[in-house]
Amino acid sequence: MKNNLIKLSNTINDWYTENKRQLPWRETTNPYIIWLSEIILQQTRVDQGISYFNKFRTKYPTIKRLAEATEDEVLKDWEGLGYYSRARNMLATAKFISSQLNGVFPDNYNDILKLKGVGSYTAAAISSFAFNEERAVVDGNVYRVLSRFFGLSTPIDSTEGKKEFQKLANNLIKFQEPSEHNQAMMEFGAIQCKPKNAECEICPLNHECFAFQKSLVGNLPIKEKKAKQTKRYFTFLICRDNENILIQKRPESGIWANMYEFPLLESKSSEEQHKIILEKEWLSSFTNTNTKVTHVSETQKHLLSHQQLFARFIELELGELQKIENNQLIIKQQELKNYALPKLLVNYISEREDLLYLLNDN
Ligand code: SF4
Repeated sequence: MKNNLIKLSNTINDWYTENKRQLPWRETTNPYIIWLSEIILQQTRVDQGISYFNKFRTKYPTIKRLAEATEDEVLKDWEGLGYYSRARNMLATAKFISSQLNGVFPDNYNDILKLKGVGSYTAAAISSFAFNEERAVVDGNVYRVLSRFFGLSTPIDSTEGKKEFQKLANNLIKFQEPSEHNQAMMEFGAIQCKPKNAECEICPLNHECFAFQKSLVGNLPIKEKKAKQTKRYFTFLICRDNENILIQKRPESGIWANMYEFPLLESKSSEEQHKIILEKEWLSSFTNTNTKVTHVSETQKHLLSHQQLFARFIELELGELQKIENNQLIIKQQELKNYALPKLLVNYISEREDLLYLLNDN
């Protein structure tokens, strides 16, 4: 086993030296900047995360500057990246470090782990990349490489599997510089030992790799649970008059917490949603008689981690806008772009020629 560990460690580190991508967060050991990148990259692909990372690093170059931002501002900057609790936790953590820790980012795994929004993977990544602490990261990439190379079939989402893989990763990190080793393992999983179409034929480990030798590459790693998906049916009302548009703030919990949206009718089934569109009972909420339905969209399917959304949009023109609920705001149409909207809404507006002006700068 020890020989296999050394072989794996040396080969992956040599491979990394030759194949690593130039990524902006690899050029620093500043823990704040590394933390920014790690939070952005949780549940986000590198190619999608880079522009957000650059935006946040430029706009909030220090933890103090981030701590001074408002939640609306940070959510707006996060717009389109999804999993918005990351942005809220990030802001709460920046405020905590700024006010309670004199603006100094914690310098070790145990203290980093206490920060809001930071789990064992993120704490290991920050403490090893910034302080070279010997903490092995085990993300999806590392699970895949270890599971395939050693032929491990314990489900990676089981308690037993998490312990087993972490123990193995802890043994493997001993042979190299912790920072370099962790980067190498994740990079190898991301671009060589990929989930689909792994590059086994040209892999420097293929002679020793259990999965490749036994033709089990597509079967490993194993997961025990499938995420349960709830279906939800949303009908958004896009209400405009000549100058204004009606929006509302989402509740503090649940999906898209504290973001903005158009007035929303939620149905229990697609049949009920269809009825909303046909029967137009909601029109009676508008006491303004001069109300015209200008467009009704097809169903837009949108996937979140545990929910499938089936959304339809009804576009309305009114003589004069009025609020239907207390949490609503009537704003100038050109101000809409300053509010953080869920990606589903931004996508819809971008695809509708008649609405595109709402996202433009002039
Ligand atoms: S041979 Fe294939 S499955 Fe095995 S480590 Fe290399 S890329 Fe991964």
